[in-house]
Amino acid sequence: LPTLIRQKRDGERLEDAESRRTVRGVTEGTAQQGQNGAMLMAIRLRGMDAGETLALTRAMAVSGRALSWPPAWHGLVVDKHSTGGVGDKVSLALAPALAACGCKVPMISGRGLGHTGGTLDKLEAIPGFRVSQSPEEMCSILERVGCCIVGQSEELVPADRVLYGLRDVTATVDSVPLITASILSKKAAEQLSALVLDVKFGGAALCPTQESARELARSLVEVGTHLGIRTAAVLSRMDQPLGRAVGNAQEVLEALECLDGGGPPDLRQLVTALG
Ligand code: URA
Repeated sequence: LPTLIRQKRDGERLEDAESRRTVRGVTEGTAQQGQNGAMLMAIRLRGMDAGETLALTRAMAVSGRALSWPPAWHGLVVDKHSTGGVGDKVSLALAPALAACGCKVPMISGRGLGHTGGTLDKLEAIPGFRVSQSPEEMCSILERVGCCIVGQSEELVPADRVLYGLRDVTATVDSVPLITASILSKKAAEQLSALVLDVKFGGAALCPTQESARELARSLVEVGTHLGIRTAAVLSRMDQPLGRAVGNAQEVLEALECLDGGGPPDLRQLVTALG
Protein backbone atom coordinates (compact mmCIF):
# COMPACT_ATOMS: atom_id res chain seq x y z
CA LEU A 1 0.00 0.00 0.00
CA PRO A 2 2.71 2.60 0.74
CA THR A 3 3.97 2.08 -2.84
CA LEU A 4 0.47 2.65 -4.28
CA ILE A 5 -0.05 5.72 -2.10
CA ARG A 6 3.34 7.14 -3.21
CA GLN A 7 2.47 6.40 -6.85
CA LYS A 8 -0.81 8.32 -6.61
CA ARG A 9 0.77 11.08 -4.52
CA ASP A 10 3.33 11.62 -7.31
CA GLY A 11 0.61 11.91 -9.96
CA GLU A 12 0.85 8.45 -11.56
CA ARG A 13 -2.29 6.54 -12.44
CA LEU A 14 -3.50 3.42 -10.60
CA GLU A 15 -3.92 0.32 -12.78
CA ASP A 16 -7.21 -1.60 -12.39
CA ALA A 17 -5.57 -4.32 -10.26
CA GLU A 18 -4.03 -1.65 -8.04
CA SER A 19 -7.42 -0.06 -7.42
CA ARG A 20 -8.80 -3.50 -6.58
CA ARG A 21 -5.91 -4.07 -4.14
CA THR A 22 -6.55 -0.68 -2.50
CA VAL A 23 -10.27 -1.40 -2.07
CA ARG A 24 -9.57 -4.93 -0.74
CA GLY A 25 -7.41 -3.36 1.99
CA VAL A 26 -10.34 -1.10 2.94
CA THR A 27 -12.97 -3.87 2.94
CA GLU A 28 -10.90 -6.56 4.63
CA GLY A 29 -9.55 -4.12 7.20
CA THR A 30 -5.91 -4.95 6.36
CA ALA A 31 -5.16 -1.31 5.47
CA GLN A 32 -4.66 1.08 8.36
CA GLN A 33 -7.04 4.06 8.54
CA GLY A 34 -4.01 6.35 8.12
CA GLN A 35 -3.21 4.60 4.83
CA ASN A 36 -6.80 4.90 3.63
CA GLY A 37 -6.85 8.59 4.56
CA ALA A 38 -3.53 9.20 2.77
CA MET A 39 -4.79 7.47 -0.39
CA LEU A 40 -8.00 9.53 -0.31
CA MET A 41 -5.98 12.75 -0.03
CA ALA A 42 -3.64 11.67 -2.86
CA ILE A 43 -6.70 11.03 -5.08
CA ARG A 44 -8.30 14.32 -3.97
CA LEU A 45 -5.15 16.28 -4.90
CA ARG A 46 -4.04 14.40 -8.04
CA GLY A 47 -7.42 13.37 -9.47
CA MET A 48 -8.15 10.27 -11.54
CA ASP A 49 -8.81 9.82 -15.25
CA ALA A 50 -12.09 8.26 -16.45
CA GLY A 51 -10.59 4.74 -16.65
CA GLU A 52 -9.21 4.92 -13.13
CA THR A 53 -12.52 6.25 -11.78
CA LEU A 54 -14.41 3.39 -13.48
CA ALA A 55 -12.01 0.79 -12.04
CA LEU A 56 -12.31 2.27 -8.53
CA THR A 57 -16.12 2.32 -8.83
CA ARG A 58 -16.23 -1.31 -10.00
CA ALA A 59 -13.92 -2.45 -7.20
CA MET A 60 -16.07 -0.68 -4.58
CA ALA A 61 -19.33 -1.97 -6.12
CA VAL A 62 -18.27 -5.61 -5.71
CA SER A 63 -16.88 -5.12 -2.19
CA GLY A 64 -20.12 -6.54 -0.75
CA ARG A 65 -22.97 -8.77 -1.93
CA ALA A 66 -24.56 -8.20 -5.34
CA LEU A 67 -28.32 -7.64 -5.23
CA SER A 68 -30.54 -9.57 -7.63
CA TRP A 69 -34.20 -9.11 -8.50
CA PRO A 70 -37.01 -11.30 -9.87
CA PRO A 71 -37.09 -11.43 -13.72
CA ALA A 72 -40.58 -9.84 -13.64
CA TRP A 73 -39.00 -6.58 -12.43
CA HIS A 74 -36.81 -6.31 -15.52
CA GLY A 75 -36.74 -2.66 -16.69
CA LEU A 76 -38.59 -1.42 -13.59
CA VAL A 77 -35.70 -1.14 -11.14
CA VAL A 78 -34.73 2.53 -11.06
CA ASP A 79 -33.18 5.01 -8.68
CA LYS A 80 -32.25 8.63 -8.03
CA HIS A 81 -29.20 9.96 -6.19
CA SER A 82 -28.23 13.48 -5.26
CA THR A 83 -24.76 14.91 -4.74
CA GLY A 84 -26.21 16.51 -1.61
CA GLY A 85 -27.38 19.89 -0.47
CA VAL A 86 -28.82 21.62 2.60
CA GLY A 87 -32.53 20.79 3.07
CA ASP A 88 -32.47 18.23 0.23
CA LYS A 89 -35.29 15.84 1.14
CA VAL A 90 -36.14 14.88 -2.46
CA SER A 91 -35.41 11.14 -1.98
CA LEU A 92 -37.96 10.89 0.84
CA ALA A 93 -40.75 12.02 -1.50
CA LEU A 94 -39.48 10.72 -4.83
CA ALA A 95 -38.84 7.06 -3.91
CA PRO A 96 -42.47 6.41 -2.79
CA ALA A 97 -43.81 8.50 -5.68
CA LEU A 98 -41.92 6.30 -8.16
CA ALA A 99 -43.14 3.18 -6.34
CA ALA A 100 -46.71 4.46 -6.74
CA CYS A 101 -46.04 4.59 -10.50
CA GLY A 102 -45.07 0.90 -10.49
CA CYS A 103 -41.28 1.27 -10.27
CA LYS A 104 -39.03 -0.64 -7.87
CA VAL A 105 -36.59 1.65 -6.05
CA PRO A 106 -33.87 -0.14 -4.00
CA MET A 107 -32.14 3.05 -2.82
CA ILE A 108 -28.81 2.69 -0.98
CA SER A 109 -28.24 6.10 0.54
CA GLY A 110 -25.77 7.88 2.82
CA ARG A 111 -25.44 9.91 5.99
CA GLY A 112 -24.52 13.58 6.30
CA LEU A 113 -21.39 14.46 4.32
CA GLY A 114 -19.58 17.76 4.72
CA HIS A 115 -22.22 20.42 5.36
CA THR A 116 -24.97 18.48 3.52
CA GLY A 117 -27.54 16.39 5.37
CA GLY A 118 -27.95 12.62 4.96
CA THR A 119 -31.12 10.80 3.92
CA LEU A 120 -30.41 8.02 6.45
CA ASP A 121 -30.12 10.52 9.32
CA LYS A 122 -33.44 12.06 8.25
CA LEU A 123 -35.20 8.68 8.21
CA GLU A 124 -33.84 7.85 11.66
CA ALA A 125 -35.84 10.82 12.98
CA ILE A 126 -38.80 8.40 12.64
CA PRO A 127 -38.83 6.38 15.89
CA GLY A 128 -37.92 2.74 15.24
CA PHE A 129 -36.93 3.23 11.61
CA ARG A 130 -34.16 0.74 10.68
CA VAL A 131 -31.89 1.76 7.78
CA SER A 132 -29.89 -1.47 7.91
CA GLN A 133 -31.55 -4.22 5.86
CA SER A 134 -30.19 -7.44 4.35
CA PRO A 135 -30.50 -8.02 0.58
CA GLU A 136 -33.31 -10.53 1.30
CA GLU A 137 -35.18 -7.98 3.45
CA MET A 138 -34.76 -5.36 0.71
CA CYS A 139 -36.31 -7.73 -1.83
CA SER A 140 -39.28 -8.45 0.41
CA ILE A 141 -39.83 -4.71 1.14
CA LEU A 142 -39.67 -3.93 -2.59
CA GLU A 143 -42.20 -6.69 -3.26
CA ARG A 144 -44.64 -5.26 -0.70
CA VAL A 145 -43.95 -1.50 -0.79
CA GLY A 146 -42.10 -0.82 -4.05
CA CYS A 147 -39.24 1.18 -2.51
CA CYS A 148 -36.74 1.04 0.31
CA ILE A 149 -34.03 3.39 1.52
CA VAL A 150 -31.15 1.65 3.29
CA GLY A 151 -27.56 2.33 4.31
CA GLN A 152 -24.24 0.82 3.28
CA SER A 153 -23.38 -2.07 5.63
CA GLU A 154 -21.01 -5.02 6.08
CA GLU A 155 -23.01 -6.70 3.31
CA LEU A 156 -23.87 -3.71 1.09
CA VAL A 157 -20.96 -1.79 -0.48
CA PRO A 158 -18.84 -1.98 2.70
CA ALA A 159 -15.95 -0.17 0.94
CA ASP A 160 -18.13 2.93 0.51
CA ARG A 161 -19.25 2.71 4.12
CA VAL A 162 -15.63 3.00 5.31
CA LEU A 163 -14.45 5.55 2.73
CA TYR A 164 -17.59 7.74 3.03
CA GLY A 165 -17.02 8.14 6.79
CA LEU A 166 -13.29 8.79 6.32
CA ARG A 167 -13.82 11.40 3.58
CA ASP A 168 -16.08 13.32 5.92
CA VAL A 169 -13.23 13.80 8.45
CA THR A 170 -10.24 14.14 6.08
CA ALA A 171 -11.35 17.09 3.88
CA THR A 172 -11.64 14.76 0.86
CA VAL A 173 -15.38 15.08 0.14
CA ASP A 174 -15.11 17.50 -2.82
CA SER A 175 -13.40 15.24 -5.34
CA VAL A 176 -14.97 14.33 -8.70
CA PRO A 177 -13.56 10.75 -8.83
CA LEU A 178 -14.35 10.06 -5.16
CA ILE A 179 -17.94 11.37 -5.43
CA THR A 180 -18.42 9.43 -8.69
CA ALA A 181 -17.11 6.17 -7.21
CA SER A 182 -19.08 6.63 -3.98
CA ILE A 183 -22.42 7.26 -5.68
CA LEU A 184 -22.08 4.80 -8.55
CA SER A 185 -20.65 1.92 -6.47
CA LYS A 186 -23.91 1.97 -4.52
CA LYS A 187 -26.00 2.21 -7.70
CA ALA A 188 -24.05 -0.56 -9.48
CA ALA A 189 -24.61 -2.88 -6.49
CA GLU A 190 -28.37 -2.21 -6.86
CA GLN A 191 -28.44 -3.75 -10.39
CA LEU A 192 -30.46 -0.84 -11.81
CA SER A 193 -32.00 -0.34 -15.24
CA ALA A 194 -32.02 3.44 -15.06
CA LEU A 195 -30.69 6.18 -12.80
CA VAL A 196 -31.25 9.92 -12.55
CA LEU A 197 -28.67 12.06 -10.78
CA ASP A 198 -29.39 15.39 -9.15
CA VAL A 199 -26.08 17.27 -9.37
CA LYS A 200 -26.31 20.38 -7.24
CA PHE A 201 -24.28 23.56 -7.41
CA GLY A 202 -24.10 26.72 -5.31
CA GLY A 203 -23.34 27.77 -1.75
CA ALA A 204 -25.44 25.01 -0.13
CA ALA A 205 -23.99 22.18 -2.30
CA LEU A 206 -20.70 20.28 -2.63
CA CYS A 207 -19.97 21.87 -6.06
CA PRO A 208 -19.60 25.64 -5.74
CA THR A 209 -20.11 26.54 -9.43
CA GLN A 210 -22.19 25.38 -12.38
CA GLU A 211 -18.99 24.47 -14.30
CA SER A 212 -17.75 22.22 -11.48
CA ALA A 213 -21.21 20.58 -11.30
CA ARG A 214 -21.16 20.00 -15.07
CA GLU A 215 -17.74 18.32 -14.79
CA LEU A 216 -19.09 16.06 -12.02
CA ALA A 217 -22.27 15.30 -14.02
CA ARG A 218 -20.15 14.30 -17.06
CA SER A 219 -18.04 11.97 -14.93
CA LEU A 220 -21.15 10.40 -13.36
CA VAL A 221 -22.94 9.88 -16.68
CA GLU A 222 -19.82 8.49 -18.38
CA VAL A 223 -19.01 6.00 -15.62
CA GLY A 224 -22.69 5.09 -15.09
CA THR A 225 -23.07 4.36 -18.80
CA HIS A 226 -19.93 2.17 -18.78
CA LEU A 227 -21.46 0.24 -15.90
CA GLY A 228 -24.44 -0.57 -18.12
CA ILE A 229 -26.90 1.74 -16.33
CA ARG A 230 -29.03 4.16 -18.39
CA THR A 231 -27.90 7.32 -16.61
CA ALA A 232 -29.06 10.94 -16.87
CA ALA A 233 -28.07 13.98 -14.82
CA VAL A 234 -29.95 17.16 -13.92
CA LEU A 235 -28.05 20.23 -12.71
CA SER A 236 -29.94 22.03 -9.96
CA ARG A 237 -29.15 25.31 -8.25
CA MET A 238 -28.55 25.24 -4.49
CA ASP A 239 -27.75 28.74 -3.34
CA GLN A 240 -30.26 28.33 -0.56
CA PRO A 241 -31.79 25.33 1.20
CA LEU A 242 -34.39 23.34 -0.76
CA GLY A 243 -37.91 23.90 0.55
CA ARG A 244 -38.38 25.59 3.92
CA ALA A 245 -37.37 22.90 6.42
CA VAL A 246 -33.80 22.13 7.52
CA GLY A 247 -33.29 19.51 10.24
CA ASN A 248 -33.94 15.78 10.13
CA ALA A 249 -37.45 15.49 11.62
CA GLN A 250 -38.64 18.75 10.00
CA GLU A 251 -37.50 17.53 6.58
CA VAL A 252 -39.39 14.25 6.95
CA LEU A 253 -42.56 16.22 7.70
CA GLU A 254 -42.01 18.47 4.67
CA ALA A 255 -41.49 15.43 2.40
CA LEU A 256 -44.80 13.99 3.70
CA GLU A 257 -46.56 17.29 2.89
CA CYS A 258 -45.13 17.05 -0.64
CA LEU A 259 -46.49 13.49 -1.02
CA ASP A 260 -49.86 14.78 0.16
CA GLY A 261 -49.99 17.28 -2.71
CA GLY A 262 -48.64 20.27 -0.75
CA GLY A 263 -45.18 21.39 0.33
CA PRO A 264 -43.01 24.21 -1.02
CA PRO A 265 -43.06 24.76 -4.83
CA ASP A 266 -39.27 24.37 -5.34
CA LEU A 267 -39.37 20.92 -3.70
CA ARG A 268 -42.42 19.82 -5.70
CA GLN A 269 -40.83 21.04 -8.93
CA LEU A 270 -37.57 19.14 -8.37
CA VAL A 271 -39.34 15.92 -7.30
CA THR A 272 -41.48 16.11 -10.46
CA ALA A 273 -38.57 16.93 -12.79
CA LEU A 274 -36.41 14.07 -11.48
CA GLY A 275 -39.36 11.65 -11.51
N1 URA B 1 -23.55 11.12 -2.12
C1 URA B 1 -22.79 10.00 -2.00
O1 URA B 1 -23.32 8.91 -1.85
N2 URA B 1 -21.47 10.12 -2.07
C2 URA B 1 -20.83 11.29 -2.24
O2 URA B 1 -19.61 11.31 -2.29
C3 URA B 1 -21.63 12.46 -2.35
C4 URA B 1 -22.99 12.35 -2.30
